[in-house]
Amino acid sequence: MTTILIATHNAKKQIELERILAPNGYTVALPRDIGITLPEVEETEDTFLGNALLKARSACAVSGLPCVADDSGLCVDALGGAPGVYSARYGGKHGDDRANNALLLKNLRDTPDEKRTARFVCAAVCVYPDGRELVAEEVCEGIIAREPRGDNGFGYDPLFLPVGMNGLTAAQLDNAAKDAISHRGKALRALEELM
Ligand code: IMP
Repeated sequence: MTTILIATHNAKKQIELERILAPNGYTVALPRDIGITLPEVEETEDTFLGNALLKARSACAVSGLPCVADDSGLCVDALGGAPGVYSARYGGKHGDDRANNALLLKNLRDTPDEKRTARFVCAAVCVYPDGRELVAEEVCEGIIAREPRGDNGFGYDPLFLPVGMNGLTAAQLDNAAKDAISHRGKALRALEELM
């Protein structure tokens, strides 16, 4: 069975990537499973796809294994697509979900409900040691709530009301429900078709 390395340091993302890929016939390894630490990759591209490829190429060069990486983020229409590729560090410090959510709410303070449309975007890629690169990109549409709700998931999930989920935030969905509709679930399933 092919071993695929999941190229991310984000523990919450590791869990989601592993959960979505593992049942489909792959042996999924995290960097620590094979005794390596991936070098930090600066996300210098201005697209999700560009940054996902930077991460997967670097991990593939270090490990010699096929590597899956994703780059994802939240694009809010009323903010001209922000935070976009800066989603993880919107509030200043990389990965500070609380600060990111607080700034998002502040910046949308005067935005009426009908203009709070947004989407999560995920670019998922697989880079092979022989240089092949497979890519998939998917979105999950929704609107930004006025206050956080729910404890599941991560990042902006407590503020994101996915379309068709009866007013529940992504953080109020169970794992299976989130994976079925999420940008990451959809992009990884599309990527697996290509793999
Ligand atoms: P990345 O590690 O550069 O792809 O950063 C992605 C950032 O986008 C995360 O730190 C979150 O803030 C946000 N994000 C991406 N996917 C999700 C999700 O499924 N739920 C909530 N926030 C997400």
